[in-house]
Amino acid sequence: MKIVIFGPPGSGKGTYATLLKSQLGIPHISTGDLVREEIKNKTPIGDKIVKYSNSGKLVPDEIITQILKRRLSPDLSKGFILEGYPRSIEQAKQLENMTKIDVVINLNVPSEVIVSRLSARMQCKNCGSIYNEQTLKPKVPGKCDKCGGALFKREDDQPKIILERLKVYEQTSSPVVDYYRARGSLRDVIVDDPNASPDIVVKKIMSLI
Ligand code: AMP
Repeated sequence: MKIVIFGPPGSGKGTYATLLKSQLGIPHISTGDLVREEIKNKTPIGDKIVKYSNSGKLVPDEIITQILKRRLSPDLSKGFILEGYPRSIEQAKQLENMTKIDVVINLNVPSEVIVSRLSARMQCKNCGSIYNEQTLKPKVPGKCDKCGGALFKREDDQPKIILERLKVYEQTSSPVVDYYRARGSLRDVIVDDPNASPDIVVKKIMSLI
């Protein structure tokens, strides 16, 4: 099954996609992680896109599509969970040229929940697991429960940049919802309780796919 997890920054896409990956046994592909990897490895593409990522702006469509195409090229016939792409109508069209998506999960999360969640987010440098200083603390401060890796705060999780990312989402990404709704592949999931356990949300998602 080929699934897209769609929603604003901080809607929990990465957390839910990671849990779905272990339940469904299919790969999780995050374009945000692919972008951060290019930047960390200081590749020519990484050097070109760091300015967009660090300021909360979208990487140009042709560059992000090129990065995704490379990742999608190995055999993924059993399916995948794609997170962070598409983020514009142009990208949705590009994705349609690459493969057929079965279902798009649309996470609906109020913006006050998003801002508080992102301001408290931490991620493992090593395995990418996500934590929250308030609601999902690691057992040992600053260390990943799963692999012991160091936790860090993302460059773009500062209040000013979070607001920029939300603005970009409203302007460029939200029209993608209508694109998939018109095709009958959209499933809405409402996450309005800031303390909702990720397992409950994942159960909801599982019932829709
Ligand atoms: P994310 O972790 O999904 O919030 O992505 C982090 C950053 O990577 C975004 O703010 C963008 O700069 C870039 N990025 C990730 N996915 C895309 C995409 N589909 N289109 C454009 N830029 C992207």
